[in-house]
Amino acid sequence: MNLLELAPPMQWIWWGGMGLFVGSFLNVAIHRLPRPGMTVSKPRRSQCPSCARGLTWKENVPLLSWLVQGGRCRGCGWRIPWRYPLVELLTALLWFLAAWMSPAGDWPLVLARVVVLSGLVVATFVDFEHFEIPDEVSIGGMVLAPLASLLVPELHRATSLSRLLGQAGEVDRWSALVGSLVGVAIGGGVLLGIGWLGKLLFRREAMGLGDVKLLAAAGGFVGPGGALAALVLGSVVASVAGVLNVARFYCLSRGRVSRRGARKSVGRSLASARIAGRYLPFGPYLALGIGIVLLAWNHVVRWLPI
Ligand SMILES: [Zn+2]
Repeated sequence: MNLLELAPPMQWIWWGGMGLFVGSFLNVAIHRLPRPGMTVSKPRRSQCPSCARGLTWKENVPLLSWLVQGGRCRGCGWRIPWRYPLVELLTALLWFLAAWMSPAGDWPLVLARVVVLSGLVVATFVDFEHFEIPDEVSIGGMVLAPLASLLVPELHRATSLSRLLGQAGEVDRWSALVGSLVGVAIGGGVLLGIGWLGKLLFRREAMGLGDVKLLAAAGGFVGPGGALAALVLGSVVASVAGVLNVARFYCLSRGRVSRRGARKSVGRSLASARIAGRYLPFGPYLALGIGIVLLAWNHVVRWLPI
């Protein structure tokens, strides 16, 4: 049975199903990469993070095991965090979307896209929990991007530099490679520049090096224009999330005030909420921007004047 002989909707579902299983592997990476002494292949078998008991295959089926076991470890009753089924579902959905939004039958492009999306899922959830982006994802992406661009030049179909250098507006291997390398330089360079400027103006660290490396890697896959678009998109969503986060802390603080009958002024609640709500990682929002550009940039770029 050849995958390409299936009707396109069946192919999309096939990719989604693969994503479900890869999502369960990504959960392992999210748990282990930030922890010293652990790698994705060490220890070999999946184990419960709470009691370290090795898991049987029945406990390793994505989504189903979690549902059957009522969200708890069979050995110790540890409540399995929401993150596990969420990452599996999200990865399945992203893989489905990648297949759906790529030209029918172009499986090398789908494969390249799902690899990038999977890296973004790992970066997002590690950054939310640990405020860092694993080098395996960011530096790994910077190394992989030029290679992937050589093998799958279609990645740079929307990179104007690659189209300019290619034959008759068509992207070939070498123009894709140039687009990728310039994308790494611009993606990393623009965030380094912003970080440097922020330090100069506000005298505090404005940008984590992990974000710089992540956008550099992304530039390698979506080109310099795509990297800038991802940065703009990510910043807009991050600003909205930042305001909502401060509002959340403000409501928490006012709720406490009214319950206790304490006298804390609105101004002081707002000030403390601004301090508490300031610490949001930027990586997840940047990753969201990169994911959107990766899948949709070639549709948008047709409408741009440049
Ligand atoms: Zn356990």
